[in-house]
Amino acid sequence: MLVLKNCRFVPFLTEDAAFEAGSVVVEDGVIREILPETAQLPADAEVLDLEGRTLLPGIVDLHTHLFYEKMEDIYTGNAAPQPTVTLNAYRYAQELLNAGCTTVRDVGDLHCRSALYIKKMVNEGKIRGPRITTSGPIISSNWTNLDSLDIYACGSDGFRDAVRKNFANGSDFIKLYGSGSLLMASNEPGYPLLESDEVEAAVLVARRNSSYVSVHAHGATAIDMCVKAGVHTIEHASMITEDTLKYIDDNGLDTALVYTLYAIDEILEMPDTYNGKRMHALIGHITESLCNAYNNHKNILIGWGTDVGLNLYRTDPMREFRLRKELLQMTNEDILKQATVDSAKIIRQDDMIGTVKAGKYADFIAVDGDPVKDLSVMYHLPAHVIKGGEVIR
Ligand SMILES: [Zn+2]
Repeated sequence: MLVLKNCRFVPFLTEDAAFEAGSVVVEDGVIREILPETAQLPADAEVLDLEGRTLLPGIVDLHTHLFYEKMEDIYTGNAAPQPTVTLNAYRYAQELLNAGCTTVRDVGDLHCRSALYIKKMVNEGKIRGPRITTSGPIISSNWTNLDSLDIYACGSDGFRDAVRKNFANGSDFIKLYGSGSLLMASNEPGYPLLESDEVEAAVLVARRNSSYVSVHAHGATAIDMCVKAGVHTIEHASMITEDTLKYIDDNGLDTALVYTLYAIDEILEMPDTYNGKRMHALIGHITESLCNAYNNHKNILIGWGTDVGLNLYRTDPMREFRLRKELLQMTNEDILKQATVDSAKIIRQDDMIGTVKAGKYADFIAVDGDPVKDLSVMYHLPAHVIKGGEVIR
């Protein structure tokens, strides 16, 4: 049994505890009780004194690629020996956990399924790591250039077949490559790469498996088609239009948008390169679209994503917090919810993660100061990370 004492709670991330400070009792990896400051603590417990720090649920990162060490890996990844890829995935998993990501979703693995094997070893208790949900390799149409990541498919039969294979091989959900990248040469940034019958076929098979489809989609046409075909999470969602947002609202869809500002910022930080110049020309349009979804469509959940290689991630693991504040002027409360409870809801795991509540996993971070008043306390690593009742640091 572990007791975290002298915790400060965030009311909108702490359930069934109508007090601002107190202790949390953890047993068998799960929160047993949340106690007020005045309560008697169990005598036989190991105690971690948080000294008034703020206790938050662990971060849920919905858009990462564990194998991904540096940008070139997207194009050359499958050429690396499998043990190297898997060890890189292990290193990234450690880095994420150390930064307070107690749950991560891998949205595109190599054919060797490194994330799946890391996940299995974590679940068996053989290695430390975050809770992992994985798509396996991305399914795409047969004319993209991302050879390293994709399973190619063509037509609705091809997509049905590829989706079934991915589930048979251990995928928890399906990831499709729905649009070109923003910076790919074409008439429209993020132009569609799939047809609606292909996406609809994938969605149908995923639903039969009690799961869902996520899609990489930047451009307006691709996003709109994928939403109408029943995709559950739109990754990046860079140029989503008011018409598409209205369609989601009017039809009461549970479509969620997973923003990945860190990956955009990575390119903005290279203003002298060809891609950097193009991204600087597009960023006004992108922030306008993302702000419109955030400001005017409060029923649509926005998830937490990062989507950068390990080499960059480890230099500033908390950068997504600062970018949501500075680029999109989101409120501190909304940013904190996106990083925790909203992302837990999006992957339908909010029964066990996403808030501090008796009965849920004992996954926490503890930070100095009050992130609701001053978000900058989230810009550096948390003071403590705890996963399933185990004190990581
Ligand atoms: Zn990605």
